[in-house]
Amino acid sequence: MTTPFDLTGRRALVTGANTGIGQAIAVALAGAGADVAVAGRSEPAETRTLVEATGRKFVSIKADLSSTAPVEEVVATTVAELGGIDILVNNAGIIRRADSVEFSEADWDAVMDTNLKTLFFLTQAAAKHMLAQGRGKVVNIASLLSFQGGIRVPSYTAAKHGVSGITKILANEWAAKGVNVNAIAPGYIETNNTEALRADADRSKAILDRIPAGRWGDPKDIAGTAVFLASPAADYIHGVTLPVDGGWLAR
Ligand code: NDP
Repeated sequence: MTTPFDLTGRRALVTGANTGIGQAIAVALAGAGADVAVAGRSEPAETRTLVEATGRKFVSIKADLSSTAPVEEVVATTVAELGGIDILVNNAGIIRRADSVEFSEADWDAVMDTNLKTLFFLTQAAAKHMLAQGRGKVVNIASLLSFQGGIRVPSYTAAKHGVSGITKILANEWAAKGVNVNAIAPGYIETNNTEALRADADRSKAILDRIPAGRWGDPKDIAGTAVFLASPAADYIHGVTLPVDGGWLAR
């Protein structure tokens, strides 16, 4: 039986997929039928095991995405190994915390480069193939801080607002050419990224009390949405940043 969520025959590239949300997305895309390449700094041993268990092809590409230097090669390797590229999930991201009054230029640059600049130029490299074939899906991982201000995370908030903006402009340019560009704004998800937050009992309780769903998100909550946005079911969705946040923004 075919469903509008079927990704059989699709070729996907996911950044930062050795842990957390990226790993869950890579595994879910494979579960829906896609072959998967992942790009990142660390060896994605667990992701490899999980993806290969689905029977789909898995390719690991070593790349430090803190600069744009590797983007052309990452896309070229994906295309060479998988035979093309139909789906790009820009997930790799970092956060730096400090009061804005003393926030360092190094932390500003590190976050903007990894979370925004590389995302744009990797998308540009992948889109050349997608536009040529008249088909493609780009899914950017944004944040609640694409909508809200946050505290002590100025470069992260600026970068994630930027991710939402880039998602809109690329959707404007490519929607008529068969390429969908959308973003997901995860709420509070249980990953390495939020470990310190969860370990702080007071902050953790305050966060939980404010989430209408009454629980933290699981990486699988984001992965299902990524499969949806990468699938034919989302063919008419362009330029949105979709909150997946247990109702946080509805509050
Ligand atoms: P993780 O820390 O588990 O995942 C981040 C991933 O990005 C890791 O695989 C990491 O690889 C990779 N990465 C970071 N820097 C680089 C780099 N220079 N080159 C290559 N890969 C890199 O956290 P999450 O799963 O939570 O984060 C995934 C995305 O979700 C991020 O964009 C984050 O901003 C976003 N997000 C997460 C939320 C949450 O509550 N968890 C909420 C909102 C957004 P490595 O192990 O090598 O560092």
